[in-house]
Amino acid sequence: MLEEKTIERQQEQLKFHRILYGLLIAFTGIIFCLDIRSATLNYLWLLIGTVVFLVLESVLSRFSFWNRFFVLHGFMYLQYIFYLIMVCLLYPANTYIAMGAGVLMLTFMFEFFYLQDATSAHISIKNLLLLVFPAVLCAFAYFSVYGVNFNAFFLLFVYIMLVIYDILIVRLFYQTEHKLMLQNQQLSTEIENMGNSNDKLIRFKDRIQKVNEELNLQRVQLGQMNKDIQQSNTELAAQAEILKFISNSISLDIPAVMNFILDVIMRVRSVEFCAIYIAEKVSFNKNSLFEYRCASNPELKDFPEMEQLYRLAGMNAEQHWVINQFPEQAYPGISRTQTEALLVLPLVLDDEKYGILVSGSRQSTSFDNYLAFYDTIVPQVNLAIHNIKMYAQMRHTAQTDGLTGINNRTYFNKLFAEQIEWTITLKEPLTVTLFDIDKFKRINDTYGHLVGDEVIKRIARITAEHIEEQELGFICRYGGEEFVIALPNMGVEEALPVIQKLHKSIAEAKVEAYGHIVTMNVSIGVSSYPAICDDVNQLIKRADWSMYYAKEHGRGQIKVDGPDITEN
Ligand code: GH3
Ligand code: MG
Ligand code: MG
Repeated sequence: MLEEKTIERQQEQLKFHRILYGLLIAFTGIIFCLDIRSATLNYLWLLIGTVVFLVLESVLSRFSFWNRFFVLHGFMYLQYIFYLIMVCLLYPANTYIAMGAGVLMLTFMFEFFYLQDATSAHISIKNLLLLVFPAVLCAFAYFSVYGVNFNAFFLLFVYIMLVIYDILIVRLFYQTEHKLMLQNQQLSTEIENMGNSNDKLIRFKDRIQKVNEELNLQRVQLGQMNKDIQQSNTELAAQAEILKFISNSISLDIPAVMNFILDVIMRVRSVEFCAIYIAEKVSFNKNSLFEYRCASNPELKDFPEMEQLYRLAGMNAEQHWVINQFPEQAYPGISRTQTEALLVLPLVLDDEKYGILVSGSRQSTSFDNYLAFYDTIVPQVNLAIHNIKMYAQMRHTAQTDGLTGINNRTYFNKLFAEQIEWTITLKEPLTVTLFDIDKFKRINDTYGHLVGDEVIKRIARITAEHIEEQELGFICRYGGEEFVIALPNMGVEEALPVIQKLHKSIAEAKVEAYGHIVTMNVSIGVSSYPAICDDVNQLIKRADWSMYYAKEHGRGQIKVDGPDITEN
């Protein structure tokens, strides 16, 4: 380290050496010209030696020799010896030239010291001996040539003083430089340490940043998971709500279920549009049913495309269908909403498509992946419709007569009891008609029971057409071939034309069955509250008595209750 620095410094000294060499050559030349007579051969040696050193220094510095410390040190020692000898040879004959050579000798002596660590005692002593020894030799040589004289002693004394002075200066210089170097080293070590610590800090910071980023990512993921869990919870709660609704509302009608499901979808999924379309005659619905919700435009009404969607949906059953384009012509309703993606799910019961559930989103990619919610909603809709259908069928079976399909006596009694309540409350009239097929046994006996059944069915149909389908009242098969008609809010005057018309239709009807054409007639008894019968609960009984009266008085006629009617 120290040597490297010294060699480096010595490279810089070369310029200074060249000046010194130049000055010495010039100085010697000038002296030579001024005092040519006193010039000796030593001038020439001095010039030759100086030129050789100048050349050698330039050459050596260009090669790696200069970088070797011992070459540098040896070369310097050689220069020192040369100029020492030249001083001895030139002094005192050419005092000025000798002084010039002395300057270079001192320079190289100084640099010789300076090249090595002057703070080290043994190096200093070694260098001192190396410098002083040739000087003493020269002094002896000098004394032997010129004899011992004061000038020589003085010169030797000055020389030794200069050597010691050199040593002190160089030592001082070295100490200072050494100290500075140590400080520098310490400083650079500290800087290096600081750099290391800084590196560590930067690495630590990077790690913290990385961990922070990971934490942030995890936080975002956790947030998303939390949202998903919340959404799942809401959906589960909604499903539970629907199940509860379905199980508690078995007697509901289909539109009520449709509306409930749509409200749940709107609340849980916040969609733009949702709808349920149910085809006709799924349960006892004659026409197709359609319910919908639209978030941005609740006033929209017409969605004729639903029928088309229903026909196309689930061509291979149970498969959902997502639509992203809504040309106005094909989607006159949907195109007026803010729907960007429409999910169409077929509703299927017993492998038979009966409707569709439709959901529209404002985001076109909404239905690309997540359909779990709808996959659970659809079976619930199916279950609800199934339950309603089953219940309606059970109720229908319980309320209707198996042969004729009109109300049975039990259900009629229930309806009639309710009607009595209304009649009393509203103080309205109520007319009751009871009729029985005349000589029905004979029909059975003549054509067989199956034909008899067809007659009963035909009379039931005619009665339903005249009364229920005209929404005039309600009817029932009261017994084997007996029927009852209740005509609410009708007095006997209003009821009679209706009954007469019915009677005419029955009497004119021809039943074709099993190769036979059968005609029939009925005997009809009529009673009416409050005009004829003031006890509403006696109406059926009195109509029955009236019917018997008609039977007894020739059959095929209508008998209105009156004072002449009594129990047989
Ligand atoms: P009328 O009423 O005029 O006095 O004579 P009728 O022959 O009709 O006598 P009644 O009303 O007493 O006879 C009822 C018959 O109807 C008896 C029974 O065999 C028959 N009947 C009852 N229910 C059915 C049914 O569901 N199908 C068939 N084919 N016959 C029935
Ligand atoms: Mg009868
Ligand atoms: Mg009869």
